[in-house]
Amino acid sequence: VKKIGVLTSGGDSPGMNAAVRAVVRAGIDQGLQVYGVYDGYLGLYENHIEELTRRSVSNIINRGGTVLGSARFPQFKELSVREKAVENLKAANIDALVVIGGDGSYMGAKALTEMGYPCIGLPGTIDNDINGTDYTIGFFTALNTVLEAIDRLRDTSTSHHRISIVEIMGRHCGDLTVSAAIGGGAEFCIVPERGLDEADLIAKLKAQVGRGKKHAIVALTEKVTDANALAQKIEAETGLETRATILGHIQRGGNPTAFDRLLASRMGSYAVDLLVQGEGGRCVGIHNDQLVHHDIIDAMENMRRPFNDKLFDLSIKLA
Ligand code: ADP
Repeated sequence: VKKIGVLTSGGDSPGMNAAVRAVVRAGIDQGLQVYGVYDGYLGLYENHIEELTRRSVSNIINRGGTVLGSARFPQFKELSVREKAVENLKAANIDALVVIGGDGSYMGAKALTEMGYPCIGLPGTIDNDINGTDYTIGFFTALNTVLEAIDRLRDTSTSHHRISIVEIMGRHCGDLTVSAAIGGGAEFCIVPERGLDEADLIAKLKAQVGRGKKHAIVALTEKVTDANALAQKIEAETGLETRATILGHIQRGGNPTAFDRLLASRMGSYAVDLLVQGEGGRCVGIHNDQLVHHDIIDAMENMRRPFNDKLFDLSIKLA
């Protein structure tokens, strides 16, 4: 391997820049030339590729978002589109690619690997929903953002005797919600892995009102139910003002926390080590604070992230 490429793809997450920086600098340190691909798989297809130097990644370790840009490019599912992308890489003599992104981006990296082009996946998403890793780059930064929002909601919902539903990102993964519920002291935690029992939630809220407690925070993962409709139902049943706050894209921005900067730096450097050792078609993870790598096809097709039942139970115990 002499030349490698790096791209960020899909939903952005804080710490992607730190990962790009690590790939570039660790690569140069190993004597490689490193190329940045702009706007994810779209840039790969459109041949928007430039060599990066140590200086090109100065002053980005602390910045949220991704300086390489990201894109949703569903056409990448088509073989002919991917063939064009591989042609572009080969024309530039780029031997391997580091893909930083979420589930969808991993599917793209897996598809390239299956075509014989070596890729290494780094888990960049706030959702913490990637197989083969305990944590993804961006998860803890997003968690801090959610906690800050919950703290503020708590101030005002306590003063106004109001029930606050906080809708938290995570797609089909409740990790962000569970951790935010514990850290934010939420009274209720509703996640896709456990589903929503509306009658049970309302009964518990009513019982709480009966005991004289007039405010509550309900942490809810996106897509489980319509947060505003749920708020209306709860208000009608309990008689307490109930409002939904949908945190939305705020959760994806901001400067990465210490943990995410370190995780991204370690994973980026590790990806380069793997490529130098001739490994391709792998995805990088962290397990019990050790960097690990798995076959990317196996990770996507066969591995599953177990839901953390203990953490979920703790959120209920301490509520
Ligand atoms: P994320 O990586 O955050 O999950 P997406 O699901 O939007 O975000 O995926 C990012 C990009 O990865 C897509 O826009 C597309 O270009 C590519 N991609 C997703 N699924 C596939 C697939 N099955 N095959 C090839 N490329 C894919």
